Amino acid sequence: MVNMLTKVRSARPSRAGTREGKPFSLSRHSMRRMAAPSALVLKCETCGEMPHRVLRGKIAGKDEIVFEGTVKCTKCGRVSSVVRREPKPIQLPIIVSWLERSERTSLEFSPDEDIDVGQELDLADTRITITAIEAAGRRVDGARANEVSTLWAKRIDQVRVKFSVNKGNRTVPHEVLAAPDEEFEVGEIVDLGKIRALVHHIRTRYRTVRAGRVRADEIVRMYGRVVRERTSR
Ligand SMILES: [Zn+2]
Repeated sequence: MVNMLTKVRSARPSRAGTREGKPFSLSRHSMRRMAAPSALVLKCETCGEMPHRVLRGKIAGKDEIVFEGTVKCTKCGRVSSVVRREPKPIQLPIIVSWLERSERTSLEFSPDEDIDVGQELDLADTRITITAIEAAGRRVDGARANEVSTLWAKRIDQVRVKFSVNKGNRTVPHEVLAAPDEEFEVGEIVDLGKIRALVHHIRTRYRTVRAGRVRADEIVRMYGRVVRERTSR
């Protein structure tokens, strides 16, 4: 039996999988909702490709999505009227694996969008990478969205770190969930819920680390021992 717990120390949210830093992304889902977007990346005659605030606008269209509105360049403040068309998105079935489970869901794509194995995408609150693509009845490395029948992906915003914890007369396997870039350090105490354990050494694919830090996604297994709780603070 493996204990699966989120490490308490990791209060900082995973950087992967958040949408922070790209509030004006047009490439995914900005015009896909049938409400007018609040911002769009458009070409300004003076500044080039820039985020534009939508002052007024509406979304319409049957075979394609048409945005008509008034926008303002966030750099120079130029106000202009635009009509922008996007093909209607399609929903592709996607099987996302995470730990021992696979979940079937769907993800929106523009029909002419290219999808490649290894590509990273947002899926709800998580970050995924495409691991396999089926198009026209066979596995391919890449295809246009409208040719794809099924996608497979795995979640990459969290990894599980194996942690063998010595409890005196026995060693018990634990697993800790962490962001891929989160670091574990030899000498650190990791909260495993009911117990806390001191990291003694960390094995990676290439070496055994007896001092220092290792990124979670480079860890093959950590070794440690249970820490007796103090009764007073
Ligand atoms: Zn401008």
